[in-house]
Amino acid sequence: MEKVIKGKPVADALTLLVKDEVEKLKENNILPKLKIVRVGEREDDKAYERAALKRMDSCGILHEVLVLSVDITQNEFIKELKSVNDDESVHGILLFRPLPKQISEDVVKYVIDPSKDIDCFNPVNVAKIMEGDVNGFEPCTAKAAMEMLKFYDVKLKGKKAAVVGRSMVVGRPVSLMLLKEDATVTICHSKTENLAEVTSQADIVIAAVGKSKMITSDFIKEGAVVIDVGINVDEEGNMSGDVNFDDCLNKASLISPVPAGVGSVTTAVLASHVLKACKLLTKKLGI
Ligand code: NDP
Repeated sequence: MEKVIKGKPVADALTLLVKDEVEKLKENNILPKLKIVRVGEREDDKAYERAALKRMDSCGILHEVLVLSVDITQNEFIKELKSVNDDESVHGILLFRPLPKQISEDVVKYVIDPSKDIDCFNPVNVAKIMEGDVNGFEPCTAKAAMEMLKFYDVKLKGKKAAVVGRSMVVGRPVSLMLLKEDATVTICHSKTENLAEVTSQADIVIAAVGKSKMITSDFIKEGAVVIDVGINVDEEGNMSGDVNFDDCLNKASLISPVPAGVGSVTTAVLASHVLKACKLLTKKLGI
């Protein structure tokens, strides 16, 4: 097998699966739909939005974008979000973060309907990952890293995994998902002592640090599987991961690149979550 494991084949396979299921739902007049809620005009939000909408089109999933003013008050924002919650034609909601500072994420995260919260913002979905409840929604990026491991047939049971990063978006959820697959997981962070010593004992290293090329060959053992979740863009607009790819290439048995790695799978996971939400919601309504 190729040592460099790209995201596109994973995303393509997932897209096909979702598209097939969406077609079956459509035969029963059930039309899965994503609603994106964007506050303001941040370029990175808009870039992800374009990629997400393109993926929804490939899967036959309907979509709408609600763009709100960057000056919106918290109360107005909550009102808008509640009306998206109440819209029965919408099955999945993607809310771009960070929100402007006048809106408290600690308040708003409880407002988004957990059954439509397809990128794991509401603590109800965080708890479901913790419990291993399959009816919840993991953050799409964390799930994309797991989809990479699954697609490339990386055995997890009994293996040592080191996750570098403990954010709620990537590090923590991916650690819990690895644990659910019976890996022995070490979660590392900025206060971890002797980080290279810890990570170089692992069979699988997941890098989600936000520091360009920080993970060098000294951080991995011979034959390790290395998944790079990082996205770092320098002043010239060049993208790099959290792993020093060239340095680790010889030592790793499998390694994901940046770009063209985990990031390419995220929108396919998003589509699969809209489908899942739609199936769960229609089941709940007895449709
Ligand atoms: P955060 O900044 O929220 O978290 C970074 C984590 O890395 C923290 O837990 C921090 O530790 C830890 N860390 C920072 N410096 C070090 C260090 N020197 N040694 C060990 N650990 C360290 O980032 P995110 O989790 O949101 O994102 C991580 C990466 O993934 C980023 O590159 C981001 O761009 C990328 N990303 C990619 C996405 C995709 O679609 N592919 C989507 C989301 C993120 P501590 O908790 O102690 O501060």
